Amino acid sequence: MIHDSSLYVIDERERLVLAPYAMFSAASRGRKHAEAAHPYRGPFQRDRDRILHSSAFRRLSGKMQVFTEDMGDYHRTRLTHTQEVATIARTIARVLRLNEDLVEALALLHDIGHPPYGHAGEDVLNECLRDEGGFSHNQFGLTIVEELEIRYNGFRGLNLTLEVLAGQTARAHKQAAGLHRLLEVQLVDAADSAAYNAHDTDDAVKLRWVELEAMSQVDLIAESLRDVRHRYANLSPDLTRKAVVHSLVEKQVTDLVRESQRALAAHQFGSASEAMSADVVMRPSPSMAARQMELQQFLYQHVYRHPRLIEIRQRAQQRLRRLLEHLASHPEMIPPHFRQRQTPHGLRRAAAEYLAGMTDHFCEQTYRELFGRDG
Ligand code: MG
Repeated sequence: MIHDSSLYVIDERERLVLAPYAMFSAASRGRKHAEAAHPYRGPFQRDRDRILHSSAFRRLSGKMQVFTEDMGDYHRTRLTHTQEVATIARTIARVLRLNEDLVEALALLHDIGHPPYGHAGEDVLNECLRDEGGFSHNQFGLTIVEELEIRYNGFRGLNLTLEVLAGQTARAHKQAAGLHRLLEVQLVDAADSAAYNAHDTDDAVKLRWVELEAMSQVDLIAESLRDVRHRYANLSPDLTRKAVVHSLVEKQVTDLVRESQRALAAHQFGSASEAMSADVVMRPSPSMAARQMELQQFLYQHVYRHPRLIEIRQRAQQRLRRLLEHLASHPEMIPPHFRQRQTPHGLRRAAAEYLAGMTDHFCEQTYRELFGRDG
């Protein structure tokens, strides 16, 4: 039976399962545009659903994470990476009794502002808009959910809760001093790194850009390989890779859970806002952080700067630059939805936002239609 007193069910449930330091739905500061409570979905559950049903979210399936579609069909897209972050973050949230709905909403949102061609695309757009405040995918994620997605009559955006918006705002201003983040926000950040460390390794080894043996100069890989060989005899290379990736996720997640549990036990926070005003709690141990850094440096040198990806980077630069210049001098080609944003944001930003929303494939197609196949 559904109670008329709207949040009754959610509140009751959260009081039973969440820890005092978690963000409770009942404590939400609400939304910019007031809305009646839903009869049986809590505010963060609704946010998660709004993000999942947005067009920008669906387009993540056509956006590259690290590898492009002409490199095979095994590797992650921006969408599958997002789902992996969400599932890892939820596992940790459940163990630590944090708000899983909020964690899932934040995770599904975290990469929604990624332009085509991954970080290469982001770097080009940032350069092109250098004189107009630059471009960052984290900031653009906010623009999408606050301005560009139109779902409701009467206002723009998805009207997400202030907690989810603050979480994404914190991502956009990571370097800001005195940044206070909910534990759920800190968790999604840590889960994101754990996910791409493991999965970029998986995809790169599967593509044979690097060999697992060669990667064992990295402590975290060497330990995982050792554990896997200790547990199973005579594994095929394929199963070895899978077991190592599993072990990489497991090691990072277990470390994060233990380290956070230790910090939470020491602090004894009585509320989410108390936890928020303390130092970062949801982070790996110093030794795990060092090992993650070592793995990231290896991936940077041997994978992210692989000649094939340098080529993609150059193509992204050339295409996005040329498209942006063309659209800026032919504003009639920018769809009205984006074009109208030139006041007050300027024509170049309006054009860049149109490009940033595109999937890799649609961007390629638009380029070919304008400049011919060889462009
Ligand atoms: Mg990510």
